[in-house]
Amino acid sequence: MFTDTHNHTSHFSSDARMTAKELIDACKKLQMNGVAVTEHYEGDYPHDIGEVQIFDIPEYFEAFKSWREYADGFPVYCGIELGYQKHLCGFYDDMIAKYPFDEVILSNHLYAGKDPYFFRECYEEDMLTVYRKYIEEMAEMAEKCNNYDIVGHYDYINRYAPYEQPQIKYAQCPEAFDRFFSAIISKDKCLEINTRSVDKMRKKGLSDSLPDKEILTRYYEMGGRNISLGSDSHGSETLCIHFKEVAEYLKSFGFTENSYYVGRKRFGEPL
Ligand SMILES: [Zn+2]
Ligand SMILES: [Zn+2]
Repeated sequence: MFTDTHNHTSHFSSDARMTAKELIDACKKLQMNGVAVTEHYEGDYPHDIGEVQIFDIPEYFEAFKSWREYADGFPVYCGIELGYQKHLCGFYDDMIAKYPFDEVILSNHLYAGKDPYFFRECYEEDMLTVYRKYIEEMAEMAEKCNNYDIVGHYDYINRYAPYEQPQIKYAQCPEAFDRFFSAIISKDKCLEINTRSVDKMRKKGLSDSLPDKEILTRYYEMGGRNISLGSDSHGSETLCIHFKEVAEYLKSFGFTENSYYVGRKRFGEPL
């Protein structure tokens, strides 16, 4: 089995449904190698959705002590999922340096300053424009921020897209993807393969739900070897969802390892 590097609990992520104990019990049952908890931290979140999108970090580390005790030797890694905005890079870089996180995911949940989950007007422009601009934002994020390990769900934008064929493809914006990959690779960061995105595409009934072949081919061709499997679970029923199938798929491109992080240091387990 695998290490799942992207998960949320109800203690610190307002949109999650599982407790840390439920998470740990489910991981043990699945005989996973380990799990990372990566709670949402959205500094200056631009929308009022009635719930705070940040949490008290010392309190989180305090809670982690009892979770680790409960886990009784099962590896539970202390992570965070940072929500990117251009003006937050310096703040995040400094904030992360103050705490002993195992893993830091950097994600972009906004498109042109709005969360497409809540604001469907993000999709008013045509698909090619929206996807190109989103990947350009991802490239800028990977370039400007420094203190992170994994770039979360590059395909977040297609999760809620109303287009008939919403899967994001390399051919839609090759220059933006090249710029994005070049930042990840030159900074020795890791590209997340988010299986919640795969699941969302599958639930829309798309036969084409795995990450685009050309995206993976190009990342590998440019020298990208670090990839990480994250289920982005908010409930225990989706832990490691589609991991086996996606791992086989990734191997067919030449990838050999699933990256996970302990004390901000990369480790690899065979795919
Ligand atoms: Zn996310
Ligand atoms: Zn997440």
